[in-house]
Amino acid sequence: MRAAVIGAGLAGAAAARALAQAGIEPVLFDKGRGAGGRLSTRRAETPLGEALIDHGAQFVTAETPAFQALIDEAAAAGAARPWDARLVSVDRIGGAQALRPKTRWVGTPGMSALVRTALNGLDVRFGAKALRLSGKPGAWAVHFGDGAVEGPFGRVAVTLPPEQLIDLLARTDADFSGLIQEARRTRIGPCWTVMSVHDAPFDPGFDGAQLLGGAIRWMARMNARPGWQGPECWVLQGSPDWSQAFLEADPGAVMRALCEEAFVRFGLPHPVWRSAHRWRYALVQQGAGSECALDPSGTLGVGGDWRLGPRAELAWRSGLALGAALGEVR
Ligand SMILES: Cc1cc2nc3c(=O)[nH]c(=O)nc-3n(C[C@H](O)[C@H](O)[C@H](O)COP(=O)(O)OP(=O)(O)OC[C@H]3O[C@@H](n4cnc5c(N)ncnc54)[C@H](O)[C@@H]3O)c2cc1C
Repeated sequence: MRAAVIGAGLAGAAAARALAQAGIEPVLFDKGRGAGGRLSTRRAETPLGEALIDHGAQFVTAETPAFQALIDEAAAAGAARPWDARLVSVDRIGGAQALRPKTRWVGTPGMSALVRTALNGLDVRFGAKALRLSGKPGAWAVHFGDGAVEGPFGRVAVTLPPEQLIDLLARTDADFSGLIQEARRTRIGPCWTVMSVHDAPFDPGFDGAQLLGGAIRWMARMNARPGWQGPECWVLQGSPDWSQAFLEADPGAVMRALCEEAFVRFGLPHPVWRSAHRWRYALVQQGAGSECALDPSGTLGVGGDWRLGPRAELAWRSGLALGAALGEVR
């Protein structure tokens, strides 16, 4: 039996692995050009050379053996290293406190290497934007933006963020109202990210900082990452509230606002290159509260970080549970 896994981020990769383990052959479809999802790495051409910038998730932690196993697999393949960095939390008046010590992992050469490891050996089709499903339980077909149709699939795992998932399921004739209503009750906030490259070293005394107050929630020095090759480079991420308030703002205005704040608070010099990325769906604010859910037939299910919370490890956990649940139905 074949299964379609729609969305090839960490949750999709985990679902595909669990399906394969249950003896079902997974095929993954992702609208992106390459592996990563929200663990993407941007390849930027800057006046100071090429830089691989982690503009989504900044690091991952592993609290469960299942996720640690993926990290170990990536580390063995040279695709993950611990990030031994000076990390602080900075309050509104500049008081800094070290973050709780724990092992924080980064992908090498960038975060997307973790997802590439997770997808290793699987049949993944990129550039495939799923629009809707047709067919019936146990014999589903997937329709794509370019008019292509794939199927039949005995099982379907949908691991898209809630808004995109609702879009897909609502355009489908079958009755997915229970899954749609549940996804509607979740909330996932946006995040404006600014990447900046500088022609001189800039060391404010930390490599990554969680900021309280103001527009920036997190800033990190990319050239403090293990194995980094490239110029002085910083990532500034807006808080969910600020990003929501300026969701439709011009990227130029967003870059000026976040760089200005980093200059005023820490003296970040004027960049020689900068770029902005808007994550419309970034961090889960209200999850569904369970690992995954299936439709009444048990042949289609949904998963992703939005089930449990805003961390890569939770996306992995949800995906594994989803694949296993779909594999159990006979
Ligand atoms: C700015 C930011 C900072 C973060 N920081 C951290 C952090 O420091 N630590 C941490 O643990 N987590 C962090 N996270 C969260 C973490 O990245 C996510 O929890 C995790 O990557 C979610 O994985 P997922 O597979 O559920 O979803 P995604 O990674 O979003 O995967 C969904 C996939 O579906 C694809 N897709 C969407 N629509 C379609 C369609 N119609 N057809 C086909 N494919 C489609 C997308 O291209 C994507 O690849 C951060 C996220 C962001 C955005």
